[in-house]
Amino acid sequence: MQKGGRSNPGGFLIEQRRLEKQPADARLRAFTEITVKPTADGGAAQAGRCTDCGVPFCQNACPLQNSIPDWLALSADGDLREAWRVAAATSTMPEICGRICPQDRLCEGACTLQQSGWDGVTIGSVEAWIADTAFDNGWVEPIRPLAERGQSVGIVGAGPAGMAAADRLRSAGYSVVVYDRHDRVGGLLTYGIPGFKLEKRVVQRRVDRLVEGGVEFVLNCSVGVDVTLDELRDRHDAVLLAMGVYQARILTVPGRGANDTVAALDFLIAQNRVDCGDAPVADAPHARGRKVVVIGGGDTAMDCVRTAVRQGATSVVCLYRRDRENMPGSAREVQNAEEEGVRFEWLAAPKALLSRDGAVVAVRAQRMALTEAAPGQRRDIAPVAGSDFDIPADLVIEALGFEPEPFAEQIDAGLALSKWNTIQVARGGFAASLPGVFAAGDAVRGASLVVWAVRDGQDAAAEIDRYLRARTEEAAA
Ligand code: FAD
Ligand code: SF4
Repeated sequence: MQKGGRSNPGGFLIEQRRLEKQPADARLRAFTEITVKPTADGGAAQAGRCTDCGVPFCQNACPLQNSIPDWLALSADGDLREAWRVAAATSTMPEICGRICPQDRLCEGACTLQQSGWDGVTIGSVEAWIADTAFDNGWVEPIRPLAERGQSVGIVGAGPAGMAAADRLRSAGYSVVVYDRHDRVGGLLTYGIPGFKLEKRVVQRRVDRLVEGGVEFVLNCSVGVDVTLDELRDRHDAVLLAMGVYQARILTVPGRGANDTVAALDFLIAQNRVDCGDAPVADAPHARGRKVVVIGGGDTAMDCVRTAVRQGATSVVCLYRRDRENMPGSAREVQNAEEEGVRFEWLAAPKALLSRDGAVVAVRAQRMALTEAAPGQRRDIAPVAGSDFDIPADLVIEALGFEPEPFAEQIDAGLALSKWNTIQVARGGFAASLPGVFAAGDAVRGASLVVWAVRDGQDAAAEIDRYLRARTEEAAA
């Protein structure tokens, strides 16, 4: 569905301009986003760089299959309201994905301009600009179901998967109750991802829309502790499990005692709570005046190093066992961290923690080398003999990734799990092993991305809708 022709056929000759960033020294104490909003002309010019190549690889690479060429063309023509309508048709969170998707690995990496040696279209920032403009101008439609269906769905987990499902199910006329063990809605959008990547107000706008549309949130409610899954299945016609994955992997090296390290999420949650307006807690982990070493190379590690810098650490080092090219975190975030003064020790793995008088004083690390890859396999790493070195540290943060919690034990023994201990769902769908129970997001995929959680939440909602309609028809027959 192309809206008219290109009004600017040579637009790609315009230079690619990424959003201007605040200077690094101005960012160092602020937990607000680091980019400057585009002007209307600047946004339109960047959108107009799309060549309408005819085979939208960008759209195929987007987990939501967003109609990217269409909303780029509309934005280039200045019709932001229609661009918003098209963007919102496939995504319940364009302003959030536009900010935090790793676009270099998704839509922008696949852009035909990028692939053919030009700089690709800055798709993510145009998407966020369209959506922010829609919120600013009151174009975001409230959730107003055409008719109430008289059935209810319980959702466990108020992260992006749960929120996306709640949006779609409530819009379809179901009454929706979302249960979460945290005291705020948003899952990792609120308590994982720091404000310098995604400001809390941006998440709150989405939460407000759900509340105003009639979605009920039951917070401080841990399913498996405060309420059982059986009780939820009695209360609701269907239940969606969207609980994410929260069991942090831990460092297993000599010298690591129980209190020698801090878990990445504990560190991030403490700061995110303050960003949400809570008073600082005296004994919460904090980097002020400390020599910080963060172990890991994913998004969580990048968020920790950049948070530590802002809290006033005296030094921040990121230790990662592979090299820059092979790290799982976004290249954009590494660049931001380096600009903010973080030092990266690539190809270096922790070997031991060194302590004096009961307190950690250094991380002993060892250099690693990449080995030759076996055919079709990723290059492995091997330690380099005699390459030990010490990094002074009095705060060591473990950011080694997350595993699922023991769901069957915590939630319901009848819940079938995959070999990775995620919730098992029917192939190609979202139905879990218990009747009327569905699952989506990281709890099914393992630690993944926000955009995939949104996609799962939306698709799970569509499957639940089909399931409940079929049940209504059966009952009427
Ligand atoms: P979550 O967001 O984890 O939400 C699950 C919710 O379930 C939580 O609110 C939790 O409290 C609740 N819950 C769990 N168990 C129970 C229970 N028993 N009872 C009640 N409630 C329960 N992705 C990106 O795309 N870009 C990024 O930049 C990015 N940065 C990240 C940074 C960090 C620090 C982390 C940890 C992850 C990051 N991710 C990023 C990944 C992304 O946040 C997740 O993939 C996404 O949030 C998964 O969504 P979800 O809804 O499945 O789960
Ligand atoms: Fe790109 Fe993510 Fe937006 Fe899809 S949702 S267009 S991958 S930024």
